[in-house]
Amino acid sequence: MEPFAQSILMDAPMAIVAVDRSGHVRCANATAERFFGRCLIAPPADISDLIDDFDTAVLNSPSAVKDINALSRSSGKDLYRRARRFDGRQAFVDLQAAPFSKAGENLVTLFILDMTASVEAETALQDVKLQIIHNWRLNSLGEVASMLAHELNQPLGAAVNYLAAAESAFRRRGVDASETADMMSSAKGQIERATDIIRRFRSLLAHDTGFQTRENVAAVIDEIMPILHVHARETEAELAVWIDPADFTRCDRVQLQQVILNLARNAMDAPRVGTPRKVEISGRQTPDGYLMVVSDNGPGVAAEMVDRLFDPLVSSKPGGMGLGLSICRTIVEAHGGAIELGSSPQGGAAFAFTLNANVHDFHRPSGTDDTNAAPDDYSQDAVTPNARRA
Ligand code: ADP
Repeated sequence: MEPFAQSILMDAPMAIVAVDRSGHVRCANATAERFFGRCLIAPPADISDLIDDFDTAVLNSPSAVKDINALSRSSGKDLYRRARRFDGRQAFVDLQAAPFSKAGENLVTLFILDMTASVEAETALQDVKLQIIHNWRLNSLGEVASMLAHELNQPLGAAVNYLAAAESAFRRRGVDASETADMMSSAKGQIERATDIIRRFRSLLAHDTGFQTRENVAAVIDEIMPILHVHARETEAELAVWIDPADFTRCDRVQLQQVILNLARNAMDAPRVGTPRKVEISGRQTPDGYLMVVSDNGPGVAAEMVDRLFDPLVSSKPGGMGLGLSICRTIVEAHGGAIELGSSPQGGAAFAFTLNANVHDFHRPSGTDDTNAAPDDYSQDAVTPNARRA
């Protein structure tokens, strides 16, 4: 019976190894040697060289088998372990342990289940899902048209105002070369901005990052200060910008300006009763990318809006298109970043986003994944105080 059982284990389709308490492989079936692509018992391979993060200390515990199985039972792709194959190909495995004694020695048998195909399928599925979400968000013609209309409204409206002012100056006073030239040039600047927005939108649809270059953040924001000042005047808001003039980040200049304009306009529009409006824009380098925060002293986001804030066409404003935040998210994600709502130290809302980030969960304290956690409090402490500009 024993040779028969042994032959079943040797030819089983699952990789099986028995390790001693110091982690050396003492027996291995043919599938295990094929899987790892090397001989495992002469000389004995060390299990921690075969499986990443396998802590051999666990084998010395009286509850070794239970401990290994407990870890394997927690599901999720991230808990599969990486196996190191001789040919360097990536592989993910699930481990199941069982006690085994041979010639009076207590060994642990490890059943090594190759999960690579399933992990790859899951990853491919995630990619497809992300692609579908992206396409859904952008490819609906009506939505793209609405987004463009939303973004073009400001520069085209401003250009019309400049031209109207130039026209009325003409009519009242005849040609005043320098004044009208200035107004025409401002109108031209706004129309160029509109053209730029259309061009960058096309690149956003095509997932093209070609317009992303290394930019000085303060200079990018400086270019839209005249627009921000007009809105600040209209809403009687006080605007402060805290950005170190030495800060650089990789971004599409016009798209970053669109994000800041949308967030700052929302911040200035947030209604307040009896207090002067205060809006702050700040930026700083973090290990996860360049972090920018637009905060205000308004009432914060209405509770019923919080869950759908970044969905398109969701607005609490009369006549609002509900597209500003959706556009912001699309642009930020095209920069490898993430955007989220936090609470402002000034008492209102704070929208924080990263550019050029490698990870999406930049905002969560490490070790937590609580999507219902209270919004983060974005303080200005880390921003260079003398970087303040009006
Ligand atoms: P819109 O401004 O057209 O409504 P947005 O997508 O820019 O579209 O904003 C969606 C909604 O998010 C707003 O209608 C508002 O309810 C809420 N919101 C955005 N920014 C703020 C803010 N700074 N303070 C409070 N609520 C905000």
